[in-house]
Amino acid sequence: MSTVLFTKTFIAKITSILRRFWWAGVQEDNSSSPFQFRSWDDICQSKDNGGLGIRDLLTVNRSLIINAAWNIATSKDPHLAAIIKAKYYPNTSFWLAKSGPTKSVFWASILQIKSTFQQHCKIQIHRGNSSIWSTPWCPLWRSIHDHLTLPNYRRNLPSTIAELWHPLTQTWNQQLISEIFNEQFTQVTNSMQVVPSNQNDVITWTPATKGTCTAKEAFNLLNSQLQMQLPQDGARAVTPRAMHILRKTWRIKRLPPYLKTFCWRLIRRALATGIRAGRHSTKISKDCCTCNSPEDDAHLFFHCTFARAVWFSAATPLCTSMLPNEQDGVQEIMSHILGQQADEEQICTILTTLWYIWRARNDKRFNNKTWTVWQVHHAVAAELALATEEHIDHEQPPLHINMRQGILLSNAGHEVPTQANDESQGVQHTHGHQLPLVPTPPLYRIGTPILLQGPRCYTDAATAPDLSQDQDRRAGLEVFIVFNYYTAYIKARMQHCSSVLMAEAAALLLAANAFSELQVQEGTFLLDNQQLVTYFNTHDSGQPPAWNIKHITQGFINKNRNCNHRIYKIARSLNSTAHILANQALHSPAMNVTFSCANQAHSVSCPLRVALEAVNLESISILAASCC
Ligand SMILES: [Zn+2]
Ligand SMILES: [Zn+2]
Repeated sequence: MSTVLFTKTFIAKITSILRRFWWAGVQEDNSSSPFQFRSWDDICQSKDNGGLGIRDLLTVNRSLIINAAWNIATSKDPHLAAIIKAKYYPNTSFWLAKSGPTKSVFWASILQIKSTFQQHCKIQIHRGNSSIWSTPWCPLWRSIHDHLTLPNYRRNLPSTIAELWHPLTQTWNQQLISEIFNEQFTQVTNSMQVVPSNQNDVITWTPATKGTCTAKEAFNLLNSQLQMQLPQDGARAVTPRAMHILRKTWRIKRLPPYLKTFCWRLIRRALATGIRAGRHSTKISKDCCTCNSPEDDAHLFFHCTFARAVWFSAATPLCTSMLPNEQDGVQEIMSHILGQQADEEQICTILTTLWYIWRARNDKRFNNKTWTVWQVHHAVAAELALATEEHIDHEQPPLHINMRQGILLSNAGHEVPTQANDESQGVQHTHGHQLPLVPTPPLYRIGTPILLQGPRCYTDAATAPDLSQDQDRRAGLEVFIVFNYYTAYIKARMQHCSSVLMAEAAALLLAANAFSELQVQEGTFLLDNQQLVTYFNTHDSGQPPAWNIKHITQGFINKNRNCNHRIYKIARSLNSTAHILANQALHSPAMNVTFSCANQAHSVSCPLRVALEAVNLESISILAASCC
């Protein structure tokens, strides 16, 4: 599957075997050719979208091939990449390769998905070593030849991106570009982002936060394109409240999988009750085997004499005659008995009870065995006790509350510093309180930043939450620096921001520029974003948390290269001033820079004012600054 793109017919054959297997598994009475009450497309939807989250094979196959294409494009295996290049595109790049006379099934498969793959690939420009003629370095790269100004008498046309820059800088040589290319092209290149670093250009898969195309990332992208909206009415519809119950049920850890799929079948109207199954075959009785009334879901589970007796004698008695007489399915009844606030306990009890009513019905219908009401209750009680026991065995250790820092630390995945651990890292005892002098990896958290030596710089950013990918919006940034003798506030705005993380990183970049212009050699950056703090404290070892903030994070690293700054995580409560001011920066209408200085010592010249005049950041504009 990872080397050959199968035909649709072949995939359809395998899928039909899977489908039959799935429906046979849930329909005990008719396993050879089971009824399929919901379409395979519905089943392949994500669990949050009313499906079962089963992976569609065609999508799996395509995502594996996309991953193979990525491995060739990035030369993950240099030998394989070299062989394929020699064989199929000796004179051009992977990006421009077309199908030729030599063909293998593998290469043909790659070519079939190549256009989908390329749509989401781009070169992140670092030192500009990529070819401008044959790599996806700018949006117009494919039609680059159409943008040449003609006639062109140049002997040596540039070949790499770096040749379009002023030598030894990473800034676009506009004059040169406009001599070779037309105006549209010149404009587009001028807005291209460059990461200020001297490593090789990086091929980036844009839908993935990390910028790497794994088979899983490719699957997530293709699968998100397959998600559909369920109809508002008819058998496929799910009311919002029923969907809420379904989603909650999937998340309950202690419920066994068969109870979760049972809940899905109940809500998605996919149980073979008399009326539903009777439509498919005249051999199936449409009537209830207990009382001979027509057997629909509402009757079987709530209104039949047997069901009524079960509910009425339950630990929390339920009088089902009050419940609506639902025509098709039990979505309305379920939302009635499990309100919005229903907890796990209630959902588990109700579902288990429904499951044993179903088991009792099947035993009666197919094995001619009659259950008593008490048998149902005992079975439910045993099942619940078992689930709780197993649940306790596998439960994660409880959350630890670190009282000293007032931060809630989860045990999962992170080390919670223990007392002994702190001791070895050097802890001072003052008036009975323990204060960490040096924040430690991996969290680099600090509880009392006031005790730090040197200037402290608090930063924060405010922007709309991340709803969809790369949604362009503005962000408010705030930097607030505490010196021994004065405090400086800088408010700024970023016009094009595509994620919360990007805004936070931009605030830091502004702070680094301020420190640099104010000639601070040893200071501390304080922020409440753990991802960035961890990254900057360990940045030698990898990529930033998102590929599209690399130009900002690299700028920050470059700016601090010859300084001894530290960067620590503080609790949100300690960062409230920066937070409030960042929000003001986001919403303030003022476009003119306002500046004020209330410090007596600055009457001749204010260092903040001088510093800010020197700060020049491409995408960030300063709105206001003050010192006091
Ligand atoms: Zn009945
Ligand atoms: Zn001042």
